[in-house]
Amino acid sequence: MDAEKRLILVLMGPPGCGKGTQAKMLTETFGIRQISTGDMLREARAADSEIGRRSSVFMDAGTMVPDEIVIDLVAMRIQNRDCAGGFILDGFPRTLAQAQALDEMLGHRKLAIGQVLFFDVPDEEIVVRITGRVSCVLCGKIYHTTFNPPPTADTCACGGYLLQRPDDNVTTVTSRLAAYRESTEPLVRYYTDKGILATIHGGGSTIEQVSGRVMERMAAITGAR
Ligand code: ADP
Repeated sequence: MDAEKRLILVLMGPPGCGKGTQAKMLTETFGIRQISTGDMLREARAADSEIGRRSSVFMDAGTMVPDEIVIDLVAMRIQNRDCAGGFILDGFPRTLAQAQALDEMLGHRKLAIGQVLFFDVPDEEIVVRITGRVSCVLCGKIYHTTFNPPPTADTCACGGYLLQRPDDNVTTVTSRLAAYRESTEPLVRYYTDKGILATIHGGGSTIEQVSGRVMERMAAITGAR
């Protein structure tokens, strides 16, 4: 596929803003891969790899894993053949250094971000969302015990077992929100200045309402491509 036809999306926003859920909807709609650094780091940890061991302490504390670890992970991942048609970055970049590294790795391959979708959700809602979040160990589907309840308390529609992430607790959420405010929020300005950021209001809305807003924005950019 021509480099300029590749759809490259960046999803950003506070923890629990719904970017993982919307990323899954976008992968199905556009047939492109979701690259979630959080998922990749959790997989590395489950496999007890060196990266997993080096990252665990930061993830458990709700702080950022060092830039060089995540930058290398993403740089390798996007070279994979399954990214040839484009990809969705979910949870990366999260710091200015990561954003600059991403520009550089895409620039080398004459690629560019098509759109940054920034999911804006108030802090009060974040804590409620995260502490009720569970996901399927088999298919990765995300539920909320109240707002988007699974078929049974511990089973996914696919039959897989549902688990709560160990970092989805009130204490760690507070650190994750602080890390987000300090390191990630400045990227809103970075991408606004580049003219590629769209704000999607994610607060007080259903998943379908947010998906509708995302698709409206996508229609505007894919129509213009
Ligand atoms: P959420 O967006 O809900 O906070 P993620 O699954 O994206 O959760 O990330 C979980 C944890 O993984 C983060 O708290 C952080 O420790 C680490 N992490 C994920 N992506 C990055 C990144 N791009 N840079 C640094 N750390 C990251």
